[in-house]
Parts: sequence; structure tokens; C-alpha cells
Amino acid sequence: MAKKSKLKPRVAMPMQDAAERSANFSEVALGYTAEMAREEAARCLQCKTPTCQAGCPVEVDCRSFIKCVAEGDFAAAYRVIKQDNSLPAVCGRVCPQEKQCEAGCKLNPTGKPIAIGRLERFTADSYYAENPCDALTGTDACPMLRDDLKVAAIGSGPSSLTFAGYLAARGIPVTVFEALHDVGGVLLYGIPEFRLPKSIVRTEVEFLKAQGVEFRVDQVGGKTFSIAELREQGYQAVFIGTGAGLPRFMNISGENLIGVFSANEYLTRVNLMRAWQFPETDTPVIVGRKVTVFGGGNVAMDAARTALRLGADRVHIVYRRTQNEMPARLEEIEHALEEGIVVEPLAAPLEFLGDENGRLRAVSLQRMALGECDASGRCRPEPIEGDIYELETDLAIIGIGTGPNPVLLGETPELGLNKRGYIEADPETGETSMDMVFAGGDIVTGAATVVMAMGAGRSSAQEVARRLGVE
Ligand SMILES: Cc1cc2nc3c(=O)[nH]c(=O)nc-3n(C[C@H](O)[C@H](O)[C@H](O)COP(=O)(O)OP(=O)(O)OC[C@H]3O[C@@H](n4cnc5c(N)ncnc54)[C@H](O)[C@@H]3O)c2cc1C
Ligand code: SF4
Repeated sequence: MAKKSKLKPRVAMPMQDAAERSANFSEVALGYTAEMAREEAARCLQCKTPTCQAGCPVEVDCRSFIKCVAEGDFAAAYRVIKQDNSLPAVCGRVCPQEKQCEAGCKLNPTGKPIAIGRLERFTADSYYAENPCDALTGTDACPMLRDDLKVAAIGSGPSSLTFAGYLAARGIPVTVFEALHDVGGVLLYGIPEFRLPKSIVRTEVEFLKAQGVEFRVDQVGGKTFSIAELREQGYQAVFIGTGAGLPRFMNISGENLIGVFSANEYLTRVNLMRAWQFPETDTPVIVGRKVTVFGGGNVAMDAARTALRLGADRVHIVYRRTQNEMPARLEEIEHALEEGIVVEPLAAPLEFLGDENGRLRAVSLQRMALGECDASGRCRPEPIEGDIYELETDLAIIGIGTGPNPVLLGETPELGLNKRGYIEADPETGETSMDMVFAGGDIVTGAATVVMAMGAGRSSAQEVARRLGVE
């Protein structure tokens, strides 16, 4: 390992100023310049046995692409990444790198791992800017699609997009069926514009279209079509990537008061239906002055930061454990705090309190303490008896977790589910209990990460290509 003293610090990411950005929806992180990217890449040790790649669920060859960036050959860097990752501009923005590639980096123990995510983002952005025509595959040639093969994907989140991209690049035509009126899954309706601009998602989708992937929107699997009908239409394999978008509630009194939202509905209204531009758009949303968000993951951070941008005077995030245990990306927690969001740790909601008009006015909270810890070191929050207090609140957003999207599952009884209601699938291939039907992403694992969903889509695509005799 390199000596601490000789190590240059990580090149800082340019950001919008915290005060300015908390009142707009423009992207917070502004991206490296070419000089910054080369400087950061030059810190890489080019280890003989790199430990970064194994931390990446889609196994991007980090060492090689970083070397290309350091040498200023950004197109070569893009080609290296694109071999394994079909959505690099997205991943560079939303992956929890501190738990993945950067956690594996040999420089991590010094506190200055290579900023692999930032370099990935830079590589994809610069390539798209320079080479809009062949950004799709990183090669000049697009394969011809075969007319004797036909594959379907249900849902258009990162698992299905990766599945479709992998097969299309090998000449296998894929049709993606999406229930909503637009494509991208959580990348579109969940993660806000200021963290992942929709233009980035649309660019990646356009590349897939150019590659021959067909997208059909307003198609609800289990309602407007069934898997049996897809088979009758000649689809030889089906991938299910319908995600875990069913909001969970807390089942406490007052949850149906006016002003209590699930994070799913709140973010969908703002992101997909663009309520932040209301009345120019059709969808309104309640603009809270005193906002309380429940949860400690990315969903809670996104909801809190969105409420702030919509005009809240103050936003609290209530979490049962302490800030250290919050599962959100580290960068998102830091950004939220910089913007003035207050974390209310060690507190759990008891009930929502309303006024005479049925509107939310406060939430009653129970103070907690950390109790016994399990083998992983995660400690159980326990109530401190009698320590109950009220927090004035006119908008509450619940982001404590989600369940499997149920529509398709309910209409497909042949599909084996596990005890938690998610699809039972082979961890290596995504194969389900139904012949030539595969599944991956959140609908198998429960709510996880973009890159985990992409890894699952890729594994299933590899298996489908093999079964169809293409690999
Ligand atoms: C607000 C929020 C922020 C997040 N932030 C991050 C982050 O920063 N980093 C990170 O790595 N992960 C993050 N995640 C998690 C990540 O987005 C998910 O793990 C990932 O999107 C799962 O991908 P997927 O392909 O399984 O499904 P999804 O992205 O959920 O897409 C599923 C798609 O299937 C469609 N669908 C559902 N049912 C049907 C049906 N019956 N027929 C047709 N279509 C259907 C849905 O409309 C949706 O478009 C976040 C999640 C949320 C909600
Ligand atoms: S990113 Fe880290 S682990 Fe990977 S090659 Fe560079 S220094 Fe080594």
C-alpha cells in the first residue's frame, strides 16, 4: 500500500453552492473537467492485482479504464467501461461506490481511494459529448438484429435496460413492455433531477433504441398482456424486471390525514409528472412548510431534498437509529446536511396528529436508544419509556421501504415466490419456476441498488443468449 504522506488528496468534485442549489432542481455535482479527471486518474497505482473490480457488481475493469483516462484517451476508457456496463453515465452518478469499487480500492484504508465513480461519470459524459453517433456500443459497428429470435422484458428499470442492451448488442431483438407512460423505472420516477438529470436517462434509452431495442409504454404485465400471451406471440424468453415499487406504510394512527404521503407518490408526482413545474404541468403537489421525512435511505434523502427545493422552511429526517447507521449513499447524506436538512436521529413515529379539517399538524415521536447489536454490528433501536415529544409538521413523507410490485405476480400463479413475496430466481441466471422466464433486480432481491439490478439483468441476458445459441 502507498504511504499516506506521499498520497495526493482526491480531486474534489465541483458542486453547485449549497444555498443556491437548495432552491433549484439543477444537478448538484457538476462533474470533472478533463484536467481534473486526468489528475485523479494519475493517482491510481495500476495495481498488479487490483481489488477494485471485484467490488463492482458488473465487474467493470476499473484499472484499465482509469489508465486510459490518465493517458487522456477518453474514448478508449469508454470502450473499456461499456464492455461491462451499459449505463455508465447513470452508474457514475448513483452507485454507492464507497461500498463497492472504491471500498475495494487499495488506497481505501488511507481514506483517499481513487474516485472511480466520478471518473466513470466523466468518461461517459465526455464520450457522449464527443461521439454522439457511436456512444451506443463504443464501436462503429452496430450488429444486425436477427429475425428468427424474439425476447421480451417486462418493466423498464435498470435491470431490463441492461438485459435488453446486452442482447441487442449480440443481435437479439428485445421488446421492453413498461406499465408507465415513460421509460427508465426508478431512474426516471424516483431519483430526482438534481441528482440524475432525466436527459442522462433519456440519452441511454435513445442509444438502446438506436441499437434496435423496442419500447412499448402503457403496457401493464398481468393486465394488458400476460406471459402466456407473450409466448403465443413468439417471444422465446421473457425477463421480469418489475421492481419493488409498492410503498410500505407505518400503520400508525393519522396516516390518512391530508399531508401524509408515501415517498413513492411524492417523488413520482414531482419527477415523472413534473409537479415542480405546476401549474405549467397538470400535476400539483402539497408544498409543505414544516416537512418531516421518515427513513434513512436514498429514498428518504431524495424526498427531503425535493421538499426543500419546493419551498419548505425546514425539513427534518426522522430515523430510528443514528446518522452513522443510515443506509443512504454517504455523498447524499453529506449534501443533504450541507443544504440545511436536519437529521432527527433515534426517534420513531407514534401517530400523526391532525387539525379540525383533517390536515396534518404534527407528528408524535418516541425517543429511542440503541440496544443489543447483531453479528453484523447493527444495533436494535429500543424505545426510551415515557420520552415522547411532538414535532410540528404540515407535510410528512414516508420513505421506510417498499414491497414487490404485485400486479404481474398476482396474475401469474405459476411463478414461484419466496416468503417475502418476491420472485424466486436462480442467483446465477435469474431463471424462475417458469420455462425460459427469468427475473432480476428489485423484484427478486427486494429494494437494492441500480448496479445490483444491472448485474442481474446482465446475468440473465448471458443465460438467454446461451440458451438461444448465440453465445
Ligand atoms: C427514490 C429512490 C432513490 C434511489 N437512489 C438510488 C441510488 O442513489 N443509487 C442506487 O444504486 N440505487 C438507488 N435506488 C434504488 C434503485 O433505483 C433500484 O434498486 C433500481 O432502480 C431497481 O431496478 P429494477 O430494474 O429492478 O426496477 P425499477 O427501477 O423499479 O423499474 C421497474 C419498472 O417496472 C415497471 N413495472 C412494474 N410493474 C409492471 C408491470 N406489471 N408491467 C409492466 N411494467 C411494470 C415499473 O413501472 C418500473 O418502470 C433508489 C430508489 C429510489 C426509489
Ligand atoms: S483503483 Fe485502486 S485498487 Fe484499482 S488499480 Fe487503482 S489503486 Fe489499485
